[in-house]
Amino acid sequence: MARIGILTCSNATQDLGCSSAGCLAALRKRKGAFADYPQDQPLDLIGIINCPGCPTLTGTDKLLQRIRALTEFRTDAIHFTYCMKALCPFKEKYKTEVEKEFPNVKVVIGTHQEHITPEEYREKVKKLFNQQRKTMIDVILDKNVDNKR
Ligand code: SF4
Repeated sequence: MARIGILTCSNATQDLGCSSAGCLAALRKRKGAFADYPQDQPLDLIGIINCPGCPTLTGTDKLLQRIRALTEFRTDAIHFTYCMKALCPFKEKYKTEVEKEFPNVKVVIGTHQEHITPEEYREKVKKLFNQQRKTMIDVILDKNVDNKR
């Protein structure tokens, strides 16, 4: 059995509302990066946690702390999600640091299959980030916020 943890990008989960459904479906169906495991080896999802945010002053320290939520449970491999693969400028550094800190854990970059090119994916995500959204400021300033759906 392979005991698997998943690390997601908090930009995708916390800001853009990804539930990780695509990554979890790929694990269940053994597709994408999960197709590489031997067919007779059961896959057990141990946990899923999001990155603590882009590193700013803390470098990898915050991530190494947080990822213990997975490594403390005899995790064999941690998959960085497709979002991290396509979007995160720090993924290779994180992989190196996590494998150094937790030598019994293998880091795999990727989860679900890639349906469009990483460039196309990045362009779509960039548009999502840049769309006009109402915020609490609009409520505070009473700027025409319509609660009707
Ligand atoms: S460091 Fe990478 S994975 Fe973490 S929030 Fe930033 S882009 Fe996402």
